[in-house]
Amino acid sequence: MVSKPTSGVRLPVFAQKAILDARDSQESAAIGILAEGRTLTKLRELTENAGALSDQVSSLFPQGPTDCKAGCSYCCQVPVEVTVPEAVTCLDYARKRLPLAQLARIEEQIHEVGERVSDITSTEDYPNVPCPLLIDDRCSVYPVRPLLCRGMNSSDVNACKNGFASVKMNYMQWALPQEVQLGLALGVIDSGLHGLSVNLAAALKLLVDEPDSLPRWLSGEDSFAAARLEITAGTRPSELTLLASPLPAAATPGAQVASKRGPHLD
Ligand code: SF4
Repeated sequence: MVSKPTSGVRLPVFAQKAILDARDSQESAAIGILAEGRTLTKLRELTENAGALSDQVSSLFPQGPTDCKAGCSYCCQVPVEVTVPEAVTCLDYARKRLPLAQLARIEEQIHEVGERVSDITSTEDYPNVPCPLLIDDRCSVYPVRPLLCRGMNSSDVNACKNGFASVKMNYMQWALPQEVQLGLALGVIDSGLHGLSVNLAAALKLLVDEPDSLPRWLSGEDSFAAARLEITAGTRPSELTLLASPLPAAATPGAQVASKRGPHLD
């Protein structure tokens, strides 16, 4: 079964179509890119393509009221689920584009956070810990940040401060990146690789500590299995009320989000 972020929200037909088109388009793109080669360069191309598609389709829908701004990082304290290409791209960007001092700090944070989450097997037990890619409350890999990070939004920063209780989100801005990520995951699976989501912090630690995890994954092994967290209902920080956009009246409040969730197939 594929988890769908549309649960509990009724959307107009054109919005549903945009969501399905985004997913299908990214799945096809992923298959095409991976057919050209299984290299670090192709994984970066795949992730950057998905980020661009996500931004493009999200820009077609109104953003609505938002309290989100640079320097606000409450939503960077929750577990982030990513596909392996996204984790690989984040680390590669940090290594190639950041000043050495920042890179050293990130590698230290990857080690520290990775140690704290290495024995965690479910999001229920995940500690309240900042993402290792966060520096001075800003994302150090912002141009290539994961898809689920692109979709986080809130119209009330106080709700974010209070553990995300009753956060009101713009539905389409939240759902579209998730669907693009799902398309990416499906394209990875269609290409014979493991596409289930992994925890970003744990995957980064594996990439640093065990560099052969990437070539093994590229050869079809499930070498990031240790970075996968079980999603448990108890981990939901709160119920999030979603604001459907662009037609708020079409929304049925009550859809739930568990942290930054990724593609889960069962
Ligand atoms: S990748 Fe960037 S935006 Fe996402 S949780 Fe980490 S610091 Fe925040």
